[in-house]
Amino acid sequence: MNQNLGQNHFIFDGCDTVELAGQYGTPLYVVSEAMIKNKCREIKEDFLSKYNNTRAVYASKAFLNLEMCKLITCEGLGLDVVSGGELYTALKAGVPMENIIFHGNNKSQDELKMAVSNDVGRIVVDNGYELDRLNQITEEHNKTADILFRITPGIDADTHKFISTGQVDSKFGIPMHNNMLYDYVVKSQNMKRINLRGFHFHVGSQLLNNDAHLNALEVLLLLIRGLKDKLGFVTSEVNLGGGFGICYTEEDEQRNIRYFTDPMMGKIFDYCQRYVLSIPQVIIEPGRWIVGEAGITLYSVGAMKEIPGVRTYVSVDGGMPDNPRPSLYNAKYKAVIANKYDKKRDKTVTVAGKCCESGDILIEDLKVPAVESGDILAVMSTGAYNDSMSSNYNKLPKPAVVMVNKGESRVIVRRETYDDLIARDI
Ligand SMILES: *Cc1c(COP(=O)(O)O)cnc(C)c1O
Repeated sequence: MNQNLGQNHFIFDGCDTVELAGQYGTPLYVVSEAMIKNKCREIKEDFLSKYNNTRAVYASKAFLNLEMCKLITCEGLGLDVVSGGELYTALKAGVPMENIIFHGNNKSQDELKMAVSNDVGRIVVDNGYELDRLNQITEEHNKTADILFRITPGIDADTHKFISTGQVDSKFGIPMHNNMLYDYVVKSQNMKRINLRGFHFHVGSQLLNNDAHLNALEVLLLLIRGLKDKLGFVTSEVNLGGGFGICYTEEDEQRNIRYFTDPMMGKIFDYCQRYVLSIPQVIIEPGRWIVGEAGITLYSVGAMKEIPGVRTYVSVDGGMPDNPRPSLYNAKYKAVIANKYDKKRDKTVTVAGKCCESGDILIEDLKVPAVESGDILAVMSTGAYNDSMSSNYNKLPKPAVVMVNKGESRVIVRRETYDDLIARDI
């Protein structure tokens, strides 16, 4: 353990963040191994061990690299992927393919072939077009595909429109109208190499309330009962997606996994008992909930500008390329001056990125102590959808990712170089 952690410094998983900034440079993504493991363990204790015949898979699009694949696999979780690139990363990390669930509303022919030939555990079929193509590919490869259908439950989730996915008007999933699902179930039953095991929904992301999940589950249970009554089809798996929300600011309430899973499991047990249905395997797919709060981003403060009577801008050495969420959907973050952690926060500033976009603002009206150029800013809860959504806009090299664990630190993704930026140019 680190003996001489800096006074007044922000300590994250036993590491002095000001030292990390000095050692590895800024901007820097820092993720806590201990915090990720704690989340996985909470899922194990309060969901997997508590209920029989359950599984948890990590939605890898939240934050994905080889090390993360290994960590998640060690913790006993599966991995969900939505593209050939994510599948490739999992393959290279040695994730067992039976632990993989492949999602996506427009999987390409090559991606479907890659999934089938590598025997991924489940393919979640999003639409009729995909069902036909998958059928053809399984025939060509002489392989069987275990599938779920993604349903559109028609539920409006209480979150930003860009991360709401279960409403009627959605690009995702098979609508509940016009017996469409019944037709697809019948169709898939006649496909020799397609093995339909059940259904999936994902209602949205950053949900701090369990209403949307419970409402979608109601729709799903009704479907399961209808299929059994009308077609004799027995659903052996239900995948309830992810979307469990985390704390970004003081306004967000901390939610444990039980808050979401207990009522859903209760509903499933009650319903199956009442209508004499066999209880299906239940799968959850948290992404943000596992990794969001386990990550922070460190920046160096550069230029500062006070517009008297208007606002003080504090500019940092990153911005929308490493965290597009504020400009994409007005996401809110909290942050601290890492080298003045204990000082009174009696000033108000706006944190700007360095890109040529007026919308490149990371945080509006942040309370801070007196800031100076050279200070280190630590933005909280950036573990999910920051690195994975990052770009090279303005040809900014992507930050390194450092994993910390109880006072130790190591680079798990190296910083991009200028040469990386032109590596594909011919
Ligand atoms: C994005 C996604 C998830 C995870 O969402 P989070 O909000 O990060 O938990 C789970 N399942 C599917 C199908 C997704 O697209």
